[in-house]
Amino acid sequence: MSPPVFRFAPSPNGYLHLGHALSALLNADMARQADGRVLLRIEDIDASRCRPEYEQAVYEDLAWLGITWDGPVRRQSEHFDDYRAALAKLEAQGLVYPSFESRAEIAAMVAAREAQAPWLRDPDGAPLYPGAAKDMPSDERARRLASGAPYALRLDMAAALARVDALTWQETGTGPAGETGTIAADPAAWGDVVLARKDTPTSYHLAVAADDAAQGITDVVRGQDLFHATAVHRLLQALLGLPAPRYHHHRLVLDPDGRKLSKSTQATGLRELRARGLTAGDVRRLVGLD
Ligand code: GLU
Repeated sequence: MSPPVFRFAPSPNGYLHLGHALSALLNADMARQADGRVLLRIEDIDASRCRPEYEQAVYEDLAWLGITWDGPVRRQSEHFDDYRAALAKLEAQGLVYPSFESRAEIAAMVAAREAQAPWLRDPDGAPLYPGAAKDMPSDERARRLASGAPYALRLDMAAALARVDALTWQETGTGPAGETGTIAADPAAWGDVVLARKDTPTSYHLAVAADDAAQGITDVVRGQDLFHATAVHRLLQALLGLPAPRYHHHRLVLDPDGRKLSKSTQATGLRELRARGLTAGDVRRLVGLD
């Protein structure tokens, strides 16, 4: 059997904090224990939020933590053609449709529905797409596309689910409710997720499914906040004929008020801790690893 391949995949849209340190250190520890490799992936598809100085800081902070990675860094912004190819495969299966509503229009549609009855929300608490773009007559769709209007490309969830058997994944960590072992994936809970936009050829979900396969990842170790998103990743893997890695979701590092850390909270930023003279060993203890 070939050695396992892990990955740490930060988004350079802010400085790394203790939560990222836990993820990166766990990946490194688990890879070492399994005689595996760790790859580094920079998830920089959102050009409006990612900045070169944050990417540079990722390298500095990981070096400070004593984490090295194997092979070249994969920067998602350099692989848009791969995501276009994956999207084209889904389009060829008739599973993708454009929706033209703005975010504000979608919010208004959700508000109108919620005035009648509670509207469905995804596992992150965001309302499911409430629109009817899937049923737009094809001439109207063609007219809108030709007009240059902005759009999101969505997965037709019902049609996608009709193409695959029931999906599961192997969880060696735990979900937010303690789920572990063989997990039944529930991608329907996410509704018609966005796969790409007019000006961005991929979403997080599509890029992560394509990249984990392209990099030969066997073990995904990441925070529990992405536990439920795994259902969408499993669905895309099945539709695209990609292998399923093992998953290990780890507890989140919370601030003293029990909230998820944010990239703007300086108290837990790795740069600030370094500037205050802490060591990598101190960070391991702070995140509960030693
Ligand atoms: N880029 C994501 C983040 O920084 C992690 C994605 C993943 O591990 O699948 O939260």
